[in-house]
Parts: sequence; C-alpha cells; structure tokens
Amino acid sequence: MGEAQVSLEHLFRVFTKPEHKDSKLAQIEQHLSDNILDFLSQHVVTKKTSLEEVEKDFADAKVPESPEFVSTHAESLLDKLVAHSVNTYSPSFIGHMTSALPYFHLPLSKLMVGLNQNLVKIETSKAFTPLERQVLGMLHNLVYDRSREFYDHHLHSAKHALGAFCSGGTIANITALWVARNKILGPQPGFAGVAKAGLAAAYRFHGINNLGVMCSKRGHYSLSKAVDALGLGRQQLIALPAPQQTLDPEKALRAGKRYQEEGNKLLAIVGIGGTTETGHVDPLNELADVAKELGCWFHVDAAWGGATLFSNQYRDRLKGIERADSVTIDAHKQMYVPMGAGMALFKDPENANSVRHHAQYILREGSKDLGATTLEGSRNGMAMMVYSALHIFGRKGYELLIDRSIQKAQAFAEMINKHPDFELTTAPTLSLLTYRVCPLAVQKKLKEAKNGASQELQEQVDRLVVSVQKQQREAGKSFVSRTRLEAPDYPSKCITVFRVVLANPLTSHNDLAAILAEQHLIATRTKLWQQLIAHGADEAGEAVSVS
Ligand SMILES: *Cc1c(COP(=O)(O)O)cnc(C)c1O
Repeated sequence: MGEAQVSLEHLFRVFTKPEHKDSKLAQIEQHLSDNILDFLSQHVVTKKTSLEEVEKDFADAKVPESPEFVSTHAESLLDKLVAHSVNTYSPSFIGHMTSALPYFHLPLSKLMVGLNQNLVKIETSKAFTPLERQVLGMLHNLVYDRSREFYDHHLHSAKHALGAFCSGGTIANITALWVARNKILGPQPGFAGVAKAGLAAAYRFHGINNLGVMCSKRGHYSLSKAVDALGLGRQQLIALPAPQQTLDPEKALRAGKRYQEEGNKLLAIVGIGGTTETGHVDPLNELADVAKELGCWFHVDAAWGGATLFSNQYRDRLKGIERADSVTIDAHKQMYVPMGAGMALFKDPENANSVRHHAQYILREGSKDLGATTLEGSRNGMAMMVYSALHIFGRKGYELLIDRSIQKAQAFAEMINKHPDFELTTAPTLSLLTYRVCPLAVQKKLKEAKNGASQELQEQVDRLVVSVQKQQREAGKSFVSRTRLEAPDYPSKCITVFRVVLANPLTSHNDLAAILAEQHLIATRTKLWQQLIAHGADEAGEAVSVS
C-alpha cells in the first residue's frame, strides 16, 4: 500500500513540488498552524502504550526497498510517531527543562530548513555567518557587558570569536574546557603545546601527573563526558560534596591546593549557574577568587540558568558570572528556542584561537568561517531561531517570562509548605524546586529521630515518592520528575524527591494546585501510606519492621 514508482520523474517531483493542497501533509500543516494546542491534544497524548509496544513499530532493521508516497508516509508518521510522542506543551508537564515553544518557531524553522545553509563555512552561509556572530555578541554582551568599541572591533573579526554556537550545553561545556586545556597547556619555548604534541608530552613538559577539573557533586554529567573526551580521565573530575547544594569556596580552595600539592595541575573550576537537579547557583564571585588564587580557568555552566540575566530583578543571583573565562548558555532551555541551540561564550575573544583549525579547501587562514573554532563541523542555521526570539521577545519580554517563572516557583513552594503532608526539600533560587510527599506524623518523627534510627522510615518514604511519581506519570494528566539528593533537613543521606521545573508560561496556579492534589490522592491510596501512618502513630518510636 502506498508504494510509489521508482522513477526519476517521481524523484524529481519529490525534490521540487509540494503535493496537491489537500494532501495529508498539507492537512497536517494546516491543522498545526490553525491551532497547535488543539493539534497536540488530538495527536500527542500519553497513551498507555508501553515502550516495548512502541518499539515494535520500529523493529525492522532493513532499508525499505521501494519508495513510498509522501502522503502515505505522513499518515504512518502520525500513527506511529506523533501519537506516542510526549506532549511537552502541556501546562502540567512540569518535570523537565523542555517545554512549550512559542508558535512563531514553526514557520520560521521552515525558513531555516528550506534555506539549508551550512554554518561551517561562509561559502555556504553568507548571511547566516554574520547573523550567528551577532547572536554570540548579544549573549556575550548580556554576560560581560563590554564597551561598544569592544564589540565593534571583535564581532566580525576573522581573528577572534566571542563564542561558539553549538547543538547544546554538553558540546558547549566540552568546547569551553577544550579551549581552557589548550590555553593552560599552550605552546611555549621548548613545547609545541598540547594541541600539537598531545597530553603525554604536555604532562612530561610540565612535570605533572594529572590535569583536573573541579565542581560540586551537582555538576552536570556533561562535565564528566568532557574530562573523558578531552583525555583527562573521569577520575580527574573532582566533584566535591554539596550538602547545601552549592560549591563551598573555602573547601574548593583547600581541595584545589591539595590536588596541586599532589603533583597535579588544576585546569578549571566550574561554577554552576542553576544546577540541573535543584536550580541552585554556586557562589560565582567567590569561586572566581578561588580560581584566581589557584591560577586556573573559571568556567560557569549556566546552560539552564543563564537566561536569568535578562531579568533586572533577578540577574544578581548570577553575580560573578562576568568574571568567568567562559560561560555555557543553552537557548533551548529558558530562551524557548527549539532543541539544538547552545553557546559557549569566551570572555577574551583571543582564546578561541587555541582550538583554531585550518584546512585547504575550507576554513582557510584569514577567512571568517565559523567552523575553524567550533567542535562541530557542518551545522544548521539554529542561530536564526535565537536571533528571531531575541527580537520578537526583546530583553523585556524575556524578563517578563523569567520573572513569572521564578515567582510561580515561589508560589508553588508556598503551597507545598502550607500543605501538612508535603515537605519542601529545596526552595527555589530560580524556577526549580524539589519536595516530597510524607504524612505529617512521619515528618515529625523523622526530625526527632537520631541519625541512623530513621533509615528504614526514610527508605519507606522514598518508595512512596517513587510510587506516586510513577503512578502520576502513567495516569498521563501531569508529569513531575524525580531525583535523589542530600537534603538540608536530613544531612548525610540521600532521599528521593519530586523535581519541578516551571518553564511553561501557560502553567497556572490552578494547574499547580491540581498536581499537588493529584499526588496527595495517589499517595493516600497506597498501601505504603497506611504503613507510614501506622509508623507515625507509634509513639514509642521504636523501629517497627516494615514489610
Ligand atoms: C541541560 C544542562 C546541560 C547540558 O545541556 P544539553 O543541552 O542537554 O547538552 C549542562 N549543564 C547544565 C547545568 C544543564 O542544565
């Protein structure tokens, strides 16, 4: 069914002409543009189909032999793919950093895909290259706020780069640490530099055992990928415990000195501008001092939280970010740009030259090709989506979105605090918070219990939280994620908590109240809840065996 002929004529048509205007593809397009929320509610539903069921639709490892009509194929996509996709636009989908997109990205992305520019070299992206450089300059300006002359001089300079546009925060972090590595182990008399000579020669020349990167335990796993990919080894990621969720500057200084005294070199300290798990911001200003004292690079991973800089009211929460040698910001998180837009920004526009590559047919010396200083090669014109969003929202528009998200998170934290059977684990610094469900009587008991005595009870609450999170997800009305972390109220042990990211501007206070009510209802209906209540009522406080 739906098999098309293998003919050049058919293939030429696929390349050049849209199908007639009543085709399935045209209908989808019309429906999408008439009302995206309506389209999503009809097609993208969390069906109670297991992942294993969905996998059966994608089980054939053979390339189809014959062509298919585009319409037939579109039909099958609706059926197999769209129907089982996750509705990230839902106002009650508050578990992740991925959320609804503003509508204008749909038609604009068509422009980007249609033009099919390749940002690796100017020969395939004449206007897109200057545009991307401007976008990097705007974000650089947001972080570093340099003079007009500075940007006039560097924005389009063939010898400089204010940053590297890439597909996301992971690549941005790797790029920033790659630049740092090549700078710190750069060429000097008697040594060609790590980029040419490699790590073994660099260690020999500097007389060191290892090169390390320091962050808190809340550092994103992309940092671990970075030290791995850059050849330093995962054991050289020094992740310090963070019972208060942030990196303690004094402890960082001591750990850094110890590491250096052991015959190693510290490459970088990474401060986090909004941790992925709890949304906390490291004391960036103090960490900049520590990095200075230790003589290492200072990188700030603000992949998620960086957009807070748009808000005059809240930008102080990232105070000290302007002292970082490099900064990561994801546009596909709080800047509401489609997936695939991240940036590494460099304080000093000379620094990107430490990773500059040239090739004969491309990236020639003196060219303005962006590919010379990016890790990725061929790249699409995603910078256009950032450019458009920056213009369509403006700083003030973003400010409104950011302020609202943070205030909504504060309001939700209040709701949680007021509810007897919920416990706020970490209050929101930005628009992310963690909490858990736990009967009031058990909360009291846990707080009175001495360390260790409450282990069994804690584990039982953990199981309750996991069970509620799963049941809520499976019911399909709303989604909250979960994680495990050391909570300030219960130091030195990890507990399981719900994690909420307030990203969708359409999420209302009523949505939040409904999510809490649903969780409470699910919780009180579990057998675990009855067991916990029995525990709470057990005034003697002795360990009761739990089945
Ligand atoms: C999301 C995130 C990353 C990774 O970004 P991707 O775009 O997913 O590659 C890195 N660091 C932090 C703090 C993040 O929140």
